[in-house]
Amino acid sequence: MKAWQEALLAWYRQNARLLPWRGEKDPYRILVSEVLLQQTRVEQAIPYYRRFLERFPTLKALREASLEEVLKVWQGAGYYRRAVNLHRLAQRVEELPPSFAELKGLPGLGPYTAAAVASIAFGERVAAVDGNVRRVLSRLFAQESPKEKELFALAQGLLPADVDPGTWNQALMELGAVVCLPKNPRCPNCPLAAFCQGKGDWGRYPLPRRRKAPEERLMALVLLGRKGVHLERLQGRFQGLYGVPLFPPEELSRREAAFGVRSFPLGEVRHALTHRRLLVEVRGALWPGEGEDPWKRPLPKLMEKVLRKALPLLAHEGVVSLPDAEAHGVKPL
Ligand code: SF4
Repeated sequence: MKAWQEALLAWYRQNARLLPWRGEKDPYRILVSEVLLQQTRVEQAIPYYRRFLERFPTLKALREASLEEVLKVWQGAGYYRRAVNLHRLAQRVEELPPSFAELKGLPGLGPYTAAAVASIAFGERVAAVDGNVRRVLSRLFAQESPKEKELFALAQGLLPADVDPGTWNQALMELGAVVCLPKNPRCPNCPLAAFCQGKGDWGRYPLPRRRKAPEERLMALVLLGRKGVHLERLQGRFQGLYGVPLFPPEELSRREAAFGVRSFPLGEVRHALTHRRLLVEVRGALWPGEGEDPWKRPLPKLMEKVLRKALPLLAHEGVVSLPDAEAHGVKPL
């Protein structure tokens, strides 16, 4: 083993954060943690990890649950496609297969997640390259724009022969998560500082891949019926969840005519999706239909924000109680 590898492992043994999935060997629990961490920060992921496993402690429990139940438990964690895929995976396999090759390609498992589960749960010698590892290796070896394949080959070649591959992968990821930070890496405190080729000019490694997507304008229509809000089943990335009508601004008059209402503005919300940034104008209207209690349905984060914007109206019309609304920081109209 090289000196920098020993330095990294020694640092990891002493400094690894105590996380609920640290030391875990159950492949299903590792999978849940990895899927959550794909798009959720560690501190935010912990309560969802606990909640999810309390309700679905095994793959079998997940298999036997309805998708709606799963989405309800996932509610708030965002990126619901992950929960849909976990549920699909549970229908597909009795147990998680013990190899990278078989794991890769199961619903929601790309090369990174498959490698993480294979190495941590099954001890397979396969490198797990996430954004943190990409950044650490790019800086360590001064690579400006390493291609995915090259980076994977590099990481694979760096796996030390006599160390548990799961521990090694986690050590690299941990360094990227707490020391080799994207904006302000803590080079003076880094165990690899003496070996790092990019530390003096870390901003160049790796170069950013994409420019920020332009903001897209949409409208959301909160229709207040006799018993609550009109909700629709959402499609696409929000499949299985519910929400109010969301559409491009030019469709407003057609939508109003379809529901027989005239709407008024309630405010704006901003929301970022994986490759899109949304600016949503929230509009409200009193509507002669029935509607329902929106908090009883699984909602994507975007729709929670939209409904929160409409809370003064909902409270005013008695759809939610004023104390409930005030708990969300809403002042009476
Ligand atoms: S020395 Fe700095 S840039 Fe290099 S790996 Fe450590 S934290 Fe990252």
